[in-house]
Amino acid sequence: MEVTILGKSPSWQDVDGACSGYLVEEDGARVLLDCGNGVFAKLRRYRDYSSVDAVVISHLHADHFLDLVPFSYALTYGPRAQAAGADRPRPVLHAPEGATETFRRVVGAWGGEDLVESAFDLQEYRPDDVVHVGPLTARFRLVPHFTRTHAVDFRSALEGAGRLTYGADSGPSDALCEFARDTDLLIVEATLPEPEPEGPRGHMTAAEAGEHGRRADARRLVLTHLTDELDADRARAEAERTFGGPVEIAREGATYAVP
Ligand SMILES: [Zn+2]
Ligand SMILES: [Zn+2]
Repeated sequence: MEVTILGKSPSWQDVDGACSGYLVEEDGARVLLDCGNGVFAKLRRYRDYSSVDAVVISHLHADHFLDLVPFSYALTYGPRAQAAGADRPRPVLHAPEGATETFRRVVGAWGGEDLVESAFDLQEYRPDDVVHVGPLTARFRLVPHFTRTHAVDFRSALEGAGRLTYGADSGPSDALCEFARDTDLLIVEATLPEPEPEGPRGHMTAAEAGEHGRRADARRLVLTHLTDELDADRARAEAERTFGGPVEIAREGATYAVP
């Protein structure tokens, strides 16, 4: 299994960057995990968008789904789509419950509200559902955030294949540690320089991200959802201290082979 970072910014983009987007590939199967603002152009840098088999959205915040809008336009009005007519690719879009209504409200503000559900085969998932794409199996776990949010775990049916766990956006979470137990690669958010001073937790610091990696016994840890306005070296050092080993900061274009 391979994962390529297409975007790692939090809810506003880094310079020349993109919000959340990860390309997960295994034996020809291609899944786009989250599709935040800026991700569609990055996807095009590395792959043909019409070759994406499925998109999985962790939660319905703009920085995790907004580029479904240009992706839908390309699938609907791009020259190849126009030439293919009814035979054009229509990737499966796995999104949380309520997604259909959310997408209709967003694109309905200026045009046909069915843009996204027409471009994609939209399927709403529940936390205990299991999604299959080729040899890949995705499972979900609710994590604490400001809207209904799912960590996503990818396994493969192929022998010797690795396992990838994505924490999505999350505050500190025992459930995430348990869900990610013994994973080969944990991509975990490290949005904050300091914990939120008050109110419910919905994000983590780098030190907390490292601690989650250690508690999950993850083999490899990558921090993401970290703005370029913060010091990446400091975040890495804080996470390595609590993780107890080397930690990487997500970098656009980086590809990780799992395991
Ligand atoms: Zn986010
Ligand atoms: Zn979020």
